[in-house]
Amino acid sequence: MDRYIMGIDVGGTKTAYGVLDGTQTLIRSLSHPSNGEAEPAAFFDHIAANVEELAAACGIKKNQISGIGLGMPSFILYEEGYIVKTSNLVRIKEFPARDYLSQKLGIPVVLDNDGRAAGLAEYRYGAGRGFDKMLYCPVSTGISSALITGGQPYRGTYGWAGETGHMIATPGEGIECGCGNRGCYMSWCSGSMIVKHILQWIAAGEKTMMIDMVGGIDKTANIDSIILEAAYDKGDAMAVKALNQMIHWLGVWFYNLYVTYNVNCFVLGGGLVKMGEKLLGPVRRTFDGYNHDKRPVYFKTAECTEHCGVLGAAELVRSIL
Ligand SMILES: [Zn+2]
Repeated sequence: MDRYIMGIDVGGTKTAYGVLDGTQTLIRSLSHPSNGEAEPAAFFDHIAANVEELAAACGIKKNQISGIGLGMPSFILYEEGYIVKTSNLVRIKEFPARDYLSQKLGIPVVLDNDGRAAGLAEYRYGAGRGFDKMLYCPVSTGISSALITGGQPYRGTYGWAGETGHMIATPGEGIECGCGNRGCYMSWCSGSMIVKHILQWIAAGEKTMMIDMVGGIDKTANIDSIILEAAYDKGDAMAVKALNQMIHWLGVWFYNLYVTYNVNCFVLGGGLVKMGEKLLGPVRRTFDGYNHDKRPVYFKTAECTEHCGVLGAAELVRSIL
């Protein structure tokens, strides 16, 4: 009897599903909008229905599915299979998602953070191929770092190892982050937090073309990393200041990760990496300025862009089989 693995990647706006056969080939995938209004039980009932629909479409019986990997953009207690909270699906919190879905479908489920799942995908199929140890670092709305070593993710005691964006860089100084502290790395250089700095500078009367680019002072809530990059390309002084702030703190963060883990392969994912060399080149030079050792350190851009979340979620199952 052929065996299969299913990967599910839950995002704030859409949920992607994929079926992999015994050769780890993705044989079918589909995507549905995520229902941000649903309570947790209804949310996972909907996912269970989509799993059954996809299995039927592939002609697969449930007992042929070895396991389902579920990657969630959530704060997760791995051992308990429990979702504590989900920042962009605010109702999906305080819920034993792994056992709920597993009992509903009669299939083993592995639940983990989506960053860790993406890290496994990069390790197996992407930019981390050939490295025994790597750090996958999404640089996006938030920043974090998933450590993969020998094909296994390192989760820590409770499950939130790698939340290094919340390491405190300037105690008590700066903007308060969702972690409850001021001055964590994320508060200085993530995509969402840099916008908060820009809005503070605007509120203090500083000038920027970004105000006109979004249609006026009452529309500044629409400033995002795309507007920031466009203003930077036109030489806007505030955009340059914002990008330099990100470069500085990302460089410091990467250096601190390097001396903490001594892992020499960084795979950078997330939306802000699309800025390319204008961000990553200076970040690398900042890192090199602190690193007084000549042994190689590789900064790579994530390669598993399409189906990354689904492949990574499936890898969660493979890592325990
Ligand atoms: Zn924080």
